[in-house]
Amino acid sequence: MTLRDALRQGSAFLSEKGPSASETPALDASLLLASALGITRDKLLASAPDPIIEADLRKFEDLLGQRAAGAPVAYLLGGKEFWGHDFHVDRRVLIPRPDTELLVELAFAFGDELAHRSGRPALRVHEACTGSGCVAISLAMERPGWLVSASDLSEDALEVAAVNARLLLGDRAAALALSKSDLLAGPLGSAGCFDLILANPPYVGSAEALGLSAAWGEPLMALDGGPDGLGPYRRLIPQASAILGPGGCLLLEADPSQAAELRDILASVGLLAVETRADLAGLARVTLGRKPWTN
Ligand code: GLN
Repeated sequence: MTLRDALRQGSAFLSEKGPSASETPALDASLLLASALGITRDKLLASAPDPIIEADLRKFEDLLGQRAAGAPVAYLLGGKEFWGHDFHVDRRVLIPRPDTELLVELAFAFGDELAHRSGRPALRVHEACTGSGCVAISLAMERPGWLVSASDLSEDALEVAAVNARLLLGDRAAALALSKSDLLAGPLGSAGCFDLILANPPYVGSAEALGLSAAWGEPLMALDGGPDGLGPYRRLIPQASAILGPGGCLLLEADPSQAAELRDILASVGLLAVETRADLAGLARVTLGRKPWTN
């Protein structure tokens, strides 16, 4: 049997199971076969006429079986690309979503403007609910002058974030302070000490979160935002406002259906220039507010 035959059979196997197993059977089969062989997908496609050895075929079949049973490709591969970087992921953390790249993009835009206006290039940036660390690490990679820290309530998630910091930041990993914190409670910093605060907190309503977590195996605590999904924001927004400095910016990912209420909460704590920005799919994804420059 050639690699091409194995790929065709794998893709057909996932197709037969229907969209609940995989919406992209051919892509998933190629990613899983490349992983079973320990090569890149490009290399696999270039070697399609080569024969497959029995041990690799068994590995591939095992991965296909897990995928058909609902395991996300990212967990089976142990990695996910985010903002152009390969992050390690496993069942201890939410799988990074492309939607969340908007948080990174806006952090650069607002951060650079703030650094310019304040004349302080060493911006102090904190990400709450960091999970795999994908947002904070992407920022630290591209702005080595920023003082980036990140927190999470889950010690498991902090371990994954530390792995990613070592993988992607190398010698600079120690400069990314990681700490355990329930949203922004605890000794993260003194009043007014941050220029940017970001978060992609759990924001799915409890009932739906339970179903999603059971279906994909993602941690319930990374998804469950209480009955209406807004619970974490109601606590986090006043906390963030207290520790943002003059001109500081709070950037929050949310479900598009939550954007209007989120803007109300941001305005209610006195944040200004409150607005929501759309992601690449055109969905209202990140809502932000600024601290006044003067008190
Ligand atoms: N965007 C994720 C989803 O749609 C939810 C992420 C979160 O709760 N922070 O499943």
